[in-house]
Amino acid sequence: MADRYLSFTGTAPGRLLTRRLGLPQPAALQRWTPERPSLEGDRLLLTAGKSDLGLTDAGAGANPSAGARTALGLDLTTAPSEKPAAVVLDATGVRDVETLAEVHAALHPVVRSVADSGRVVVLGAPLDPADHHQAAVQQALEGFTRSLGKEIGRGRTVNLVRLTDAHAAESTLRFLLSPRSAYVSGQVVEVGSAPADVTAPHDPDRPLTGRTALVTGAARGIGEAVAETLARDGAQVVVLDVPQAEQGARRVADRLGGTALALDITAPDAGTRIAAALPDGLDVLVHNAGITRDRRLVNMPAERWSSVLDVNLASVLRTTDALLESGTLRRGGRVVATASIAGLAGNAGQTNYGASKAGVVGLVRALAPRALAEHGVTVNAVAPGFVETKMTAAIPLFIREAGRRMNSLAQGGLPIDVAETTAWLADPGSSGVNGQVVRVCGQSLLGA
Ligand code: NAD
Repeated sequence: MADRYLSFTGTAPGRLLTRRLGLPQPAALQRWTPERPSLEGDRLLLTAGKSDLGLTDAGAGANPSAGARTALGLDLTTAPSEKPAAVVLDATGVRDVETLAEVHAALHPVVRSVADSGRVVVLGAPLDPADHHQAAVQQALEGFTRSLGKEIGRGRTVNLVRLTDAHAAESTLRFLLSPRSAYVSGQVVEVGSAPADVTAPHDPDRPLTGRTALVTGAARGIGEAVAETLARDGAQVVVLDVPQAEQGARRVADRLGGTALALDITAPDAGTRIAAALPDGLDVLVHNAGITRDRRLVNMPAERWSSVLDVNLASVLRTTDALLESGTLRRGGRVVATASIAGLAGNAGQTNYGASKAGVVGLVRALAPRALAEHGVTVNAVAPGFVETKMTAAIPLFIREAGRRMNSLAQGGLPIDVAETTAWLADPGSSGVNGQVVRVCGQSLLGA
């Protein structure tokens, strides 16, 4: 299961040989650890066009060499930096093709110097339907971001955040500028303004303190990593899995100081039973449980179709409805569902799975505005690409190897990458992030 090619290219002879043969050159990614919780180096703030975001405060404007404490609560600097860990380009003020040239002018001289595993984050504005020039160049930023993501290399990522309110984007910027987003690249995230009654967390290191999170399918794989990461961030976790996996669920729950819930999520009364198990309510609901039953459509019996649709989509719809309607999901709550690049790109042998995961995307987009307006709950999805788990270890060698390399980072993601993305969406500070489908795929070529 281990990616031996990645280990090999990490050695000097491996690097030499793979470069000579023109083979992919994956770089070992820097991920979050307690010892190295952030990227080391400056975070450089650049601007294209005339921005109204007000990112640097007045003092920093007078003295650009000082670290500028910004409206985002992040330390950014406008002083030149030899090897920045991150570059944030505020392009919200770009409204025409002439000022779009400032994007090139700002990044062209610095992009080479961004450190390995570093970050480029472009800030854009929502597209203005009344101004097709502004809409054209703001959309241009998307093509720019995705193209730079494909060429930047060395474990560096490039993402675009469309925003109107810098404060509402703080948790998003904190995530994208940290090692937690190691496998998220080429993404476009829209951040709206946060509802006034939802406050940012007091402790950014443990933002989920005092919150309860339920993760389905958490006895192993990605779900286990999600439960672990939410617990790291302070949540009280409920580890749900099928009765056959109860032992594994208990083991995970015990390790995390949480509780296990043995329940088949497809049971018609699953929502009621979860509500009964959580009389004090729930803050974070992660729909992670999922199955595959691959066959080409011509060979697929109805049972394979219905079992996948039932676990991956119908139960997600049913339990979300039940927990919203019963009020179990409290105001300020979060729903994070699990889609897949197979639901975006389609995949041979997976008409059932692709349909179910595309269904999750439809659910998220339609429910998000209403759930926020009526219940104060955000609804988002993560869409993993190739992630190193038991599910992908079962794929035949050559297909597996292709899946691993066909992305900008030339490697598979780890369960922790999906977990970190989930934790960002679950963060109380992420109330402006709603109805988003965030791919955790190293910018996979599939469905791009
Ligand atoms: P996995 O098979 O390792 O784990 C899935 C867990 O869900 C298991 O513990 C299983 O017992 C549980 N589960 C299955 N049916 C259930 C049910 N009816 N009720 C309760 N629990 C149930 O899978 P994984 O690789 O960790 O994937 C997790 C999620 O991520 C799934 O939704 C999957 O579709 C999605 N995903 C995975 C990848 C990948 O590369 N591994 C890629 C895209 C999407």
